[in-house]
Amino acid sequence: MFEKILIANRGEIALRILRAAKELGIATVAVHSTADADAMHVKLADESVCVGPPAARDSYLNIPALLAACEITGAEALHPGYGFLSENARFAEILAEHHIVFVGPKPEHIRIMGDKIEAKRTATRLGIPCVPGSPGAITDDIEAVAIAKELGYPVLIKAAAGGGGRGMKVAYGPDDLSSALETARMEAKSAFGDESVYLEKFLEKPRHIEIQILGDGRGNAIHLGERDCSLQRRHQKVWEEGPSPALNAPQRLEIGEICAAAMRELRYSGVGTVEFLYEDGKFYFIEMNTRIQVEHPVTEMITGVDLVNEQIKIAAGSELTLTQDEVVFNGHAIECRINAEHPATFRPSPGTINYYHPPGGLGVRVDSAVYAGYTIPPTYDSLVGKLIVHGRSRNEALMRLRRALDEFIIDGIDTTIPLFQTLVRNADIQNGLYDIHWLEKFLIDGG
Ligand code: ADP
Repeated sequence: MFEKILIANRGEIALRILRAAKELGIATVAVHSTADADAMHVKLADESVCVGPPAARDSYLNIPALLAACEITGAEALHPGYGFLSENARFAEILAEHHIVFVGPKPEHIRIMGDKIEAKRTATRLGIPCVPGSPGAITDDIEAVAIAKELGYPVLIKAAAGGGGRGMKVAYGPDDLSSALETARMEAKSAFGDESVYLEKFLEKPRHIEIQILGDGRGNAIHLGERDCSLQRRHQKVWEEGPSPALNAPQRLEIGEICAAAMRELRYSGVGTVEFLYEDGKFYFIEMNTRIQVEHPVTEMITGVDLVNEQIKIAAGSELTLTQDEVVFNGHAIECRINAEHPATFRPSPGTINYYHPPGGLGVRVDSAVYAGYTIPPTYDSLVGKLIVHGRSRNEALMRLRRALDEFIIDGIDTTIPLFQTLVRNADIQNGLYDIHWLEKFLIDGG
């Protein structure tokens, strides 16, 4: 096992990784920007190194500074968390060249899945069902018209290098296709530095269902069931739960095994998520994420498996410690992403938290890095914490969530807690009757 690990991230996920490392008896190195000198992950780590000014490109994305931090502290491994450099294949290669272990999959797998066109090709080859779409990048608008006609409108234009729900455009007919293509290419170029776009059939009422997988890079791989992340705003997840209210056990095992078999064939190493849209009883692959995800606690709560602990052990060369038969699903979990934003306008609300009281009790977990007196800098994303509840049934989880939300106090800034208080009392949510468009419609109708 490693003696020392560097955590190349901030916020709640830095703390989450730190907890796993401590339980494994590994010394921790935190890195931070000048804006994060007071952050909790810095206070709790064994050592810390300032890697640059507030802007992420100069600190959390600053590869030479991160390498130097590993070298001066003697860290043997680096955990990238999510976002920042977590899906940067070149970074994983550079670390390997410096004999530092990247806690994540092989660079080639990060690279394949980072290009959504290549990812869909690979998924198809591995027997994973995909959303119907263009066979590759769209280079010719006339060809695009023909493909869109065959797919049937509406169609969705997506950036090959896309992420974070950005760079997607819907075209409802041939008349808006070429202008939508042009805007999508421009946006993709400015956001991702790559203007390649492709076409997909726009599904009208799917759910977003994703499968958690775990592989050891030696051909062993298992799945840990699904998370339903259909409640989204601007293609960004807001509420995640597992199991999905829409799936039954045979469906879960079937799609789970398809994903696990694909990962065995790839000899995939570490944690990963295979994302699908699910409509009328069918699964359609959209992308794969090759990192730990924000919503991973949902899976941890229903399986009892510590995913970050597994990730670190696999990176250190260990084989999978559990078999598929040993994965037992227990009860129901729901996660709410609590953001420092106005609950109705979603205007970011950085500032100082003057009073903080997280909820507790049976089946309640809060993953957060904030504390009373902490000032949220305006520079990074607005996630203040995740509230995760577990119950023996979905109803028990909902009851517990309602109670926990009412107990949660974060004073001094706006948060999205009131939105969740409304959602947990909504009949559609209580009945599990929602698709990926439900939340946007609900917000437009005035909630
Ligand atoms: P990103 O990497 O930017 O998150 P994804 O491909 O994962 O992009 O898609 C994000 C969300 O966008 C999905 O969860 C879904 O809500 C919506 N979406 C993506 N593809 C389609 C599609 N073909 N039809 C309808 N909605 C889609």
